[in-house]
Amino acid sequence: MSGALDEQVYLDYQSAKPVDRRVLEQMTPYFSEKFGNPSSLHHVGDIATEALEQSRKKVSEFIGSDMDEIVFTSGATESINLGIIGFALRNKRKGKHIVISEVEHISIRNIAKYLEKEGFLVSRVPVDQYGQVKLGKLESRLRDDTILVSIQYANNEIGTIQKIQEIGEIVHDHGAALHTDAVAAEGLVPINVEADNIDLMSMSSNDIYGPKGAGFLFMRRGYRVNPLIIGGGQERGLRSGSEDVASIVGMSAAAEIIQKEMNDEIKRFKKYRDRIIDSVLNEVPDSYLNGHPEERLPNNAHFRFDGIEGESILLSFKDLGIAISTGSACTSKTLEPSHCLIATGLLHEEAHGSLEITVGRYNTDNHIDKVIDAVPKVVSRLRELSPIYTPKEKVMSR
Ligand code: PMP
Repeated sequence: MSGALDEQVYLDYQSAKPVDRRVLEQMTPYFSEKFGNPSSLHHVGDIATEALEQSRKKVSEFIGSDMDEIVFTSGATESINLGIIGFALRNKRKGKHIVISEVEHISIRNIAKYLEKEGFLVSRVPVDQYGQVKLGKLESRLRDDTILVSIQYANNEIGTIQKIQEIGEIVHDHGAALHTDAVAAEGLVPINVEADNIDLMSMSSNDIYGPKGAGFLFMRRGYRVNPLIIGGGQERGLRSGSEDVASIVGMSAAAEIIQKEMNDEIKRFKKYRDRIIDSVLNEVPDSYLNGHPEERLPNNAHFRFDGIEGESILLSFKDLGIAISTGSACTSKTLEPSHCLIATGLLHEEAHGSLEITVGRYNTDNHIDKVIDAVPKVVSRLRELSPIYTPKEKVMSR
């Protein structure tokens, strides 16, 4: 890691990740000497086609699928659109009922609203206090006309991992298909679409240290979606437009690297995460861990603090050169508290005092030391200024 990030402490890996230099190296030739269009039939086009198919192979190995079950896209949002809207439009004669959870990413929440306007019916399944989908409630929402269930693999804010295998069994028992948004989990949890009972899955490149602007949809053989981008018929007609070969090569290089290094990274991240969690809960009075105590992403620590606003914590950390988050970067401009925290049963004022720390590939012990040292100081200073904070006896968890 070089440049500005050397001086800063970056602990917001959930929002964005730097491109791994090894990935960048593999991408570079595809901007210049290997610039061909895979649709061209000459030898320059062949080089691009070969790169595209090699990339498809690497990505399919990463998730345990076949090559022809991968559709390259411009990122997770597009994959999710194709996987949910494309599926809904294609399969609407079988039924017009869709199920999502209450903690889905804004892209899925907004797609649900869009489909409702288009005459589909969407049910939302509640989660428990840790953010896990209530399986009994899921079962009760499923109907004869349910065609699709979309439940995230893990939550991008509180880090809770869903029981995706069991969810898949329930969904299949009712004859519906399971789409999962695996963006928060990819590279942090081993994912195998067969073992995990997944029919459609959206992933992005940047979340595994590849370039932004690339992603893919896994679609199990035999399932069908209507294309949303119509044109020259690339990607078996499912996603037209000349492929961004360099970015796709980058994404597949990132997948290959993370597949090899994931076990070691998970161990390292867990150590960092647990140091942060133990230290904050011990050192900061009236602090609580959000999300599941065990079934959580190895790199995620998410807290709430009585009596202070997440934004003021974030800005204090910014002054110290430490980049952290209050939740999803995609909704950071709204004043609303996180819908995920509200879904776990928190009050608005509790949800507002939250802080998300996500570690990643380029963090060091020194970064963890710095944040552990800073949190109690920042929280205590902000509480001195807070008109609403009155200390209460410490409760470690709810
Ligand atoms: N799902 C989740 C869980 C996310 O965190 C994000 C944002 N990184 C997305 C979907 C959308 O991804 P993108 O903005 O890369 O399209």
